[in-house]
Amino acid sequence: MTLAQPPHRKAKALRPGAPRPAKELCSECGFCDTYYIRYVKDACAFLNQQFPALEQQSHGRQRDLAQDNEVYFGVHQDMMAARKHQPIEGAQWTGIVSSIAIEMLTQGKVEGVVCVQNTEEDRFQPKPVIATTPEEILAARVNKPTLSPNLSVLEQVEQSGMKRLLVIGVGCQIQALRAVQDKLGLEKLYVLGTPCVDNVSRAGLQKFLETTSRSPDTVVHYEFMQDFRVHFKHEDGSTETVPFFGLKTNQLKDVFAPSCMSCFDYVNGLADLVVGYMGAPFGWQWLVVRNQTGQEMLDLVMDQLDTQPVMSQGDRHQAVQQSIPAYDKGVTLPMWAAKLMGLVIERIGPKGLEYARFSIDSHFTRNYLYLKRNHPEKLDAHVPDFAKQIVSQYQLPD
Ligand SMILES: Cc1cc2nc3c(=O)[nH]c(=O)nc-3n(C[C@H](O)[C@H](O)[C@H](O)COP(=O)(O)OP(=O)(O)OC[C@H]3O[C@@H](n4cnc5c(N)ncnc54)[C@H](O)[C@@H]3O)c2cc1C
Repeated sequence: MTLAQPPHRKAKALRPGAPRPAKELCSECGFCDTYYIRYVKDACAFLNQQFPALEQQSHGRQRDLAQDNEVYFGVHQDMMAARKHQPIEGAQWTGIVSSIAIEMLTQGKVEGVVCVQNTEEDRFQPKPVIATTPEEILAARVNKPTLSPNLSVLEQVEQSGMKRLLVIGVGCQIQALRAVQDKLGLEKLYVLGTPCVDNVSRAGLQKFLETTSRSPDTVVHYEFMQDFRVHFKHEDGSTETVPFFGLKTNQLKDVFAPSCMSCFDYVNGLADLVVGYMGAPFGWQWLVVRNQTGQEMLDLVMDQLDTQPVMSQGDRHQAVQQSIPAYDKGVTLPMWAAKLMGLVIERIGPKGLEYARFSIDSHFTRNYLYLKRNHPEKLDAHVPDFAKQIVSQYQLPD
């Protein structure tokens, strides 16, 4: 007897360049490049906000809206700051993500790892793969700071017959993945997430580099860091820092992808384990363990890490409130004033979890305003309750 084909296999992926169901809000996560497009209305993060249901499915409970840390950082059972004793050269931070992925593979927990390498021609052009060797995982280290179609490999997962898989990805990718994970033919799925904000198309990235760095073509790595500066690393090993307050906001206002201007999943609420930096002191990575599957992954590398408890210092509220109209009007400070402001805020500004809250508040208020002005019909259903709670602390312009 032959089993009936699952219905998605009869569907057809969209052609490259064809309009996407989420239209301009598409984050190019790759889902519609596969036959899973059959489920797009339910699965796409920008067509169907369903955090409560997917949190329940992924973590066995929804985030507790009476607890400030859960409102901000999502369901979790542990948080810490960490860094590798021996950082992986060329990783985005110290390479905790790549190290976990390598252990998952070499200890036989999974048969493959969905991650994103770059093309031969362009170090920032994403090339999603299912890695099956440590070398292939290492080749995916460091951020490709552009929208990346990681889910375009989903058809290959089902066709490969793999039963145990690790997926590394950002929030919009993971939301769509969670919605169809039962249809991939897997026995066990592990999800290792990173936070993500202000992503850009490849063309947008070029504009950002050209307006912000002294040498855009030699940038190999950059990060918006906890000291309120963008840190660039160049091909020759030199570094360059630019204070956040010196960014040419007036020119950069429309550089971020509309999907990212409409996103409220900064902290990747549906991953089992999240590895970022924003809740940790400067120089450290920030780990959020959401459930036992996340703990199982972290346990594999604990002997490679220095750790310390999370800390929180300062009060972000005034700085966030003041930044709302400044951003809205595209205010750009002269560089001397930006550097001075950077120095002051670095000394007295929010640190640790309070820095993470500062960043979440600033982005959620901006994104709420963006949606209200550009997609008012989506506002109520698309903005999750935890984000409404965060935004309600501030006075927003019309
Ligand atoms: C676009 C983007 C924005 C981010 N913004 C923030 C932020 O605002 N705050 C914060 O705390 N952390 C943010 N992060 C996470 C942070 O920059 C680091 O990626 C994380 O701390 C892991 O560092 P690592 O050294 O352990 O990673 P590495 O060991 O270097 O591994 C990096 C992993 O990231 C994956 N990856 C690279 N580019 C992409 C992409 N475009 N989409 C999906 N996966 C990708 C690769 O597959 C690789 O496995 C962001 C990450 C990305 C990709």
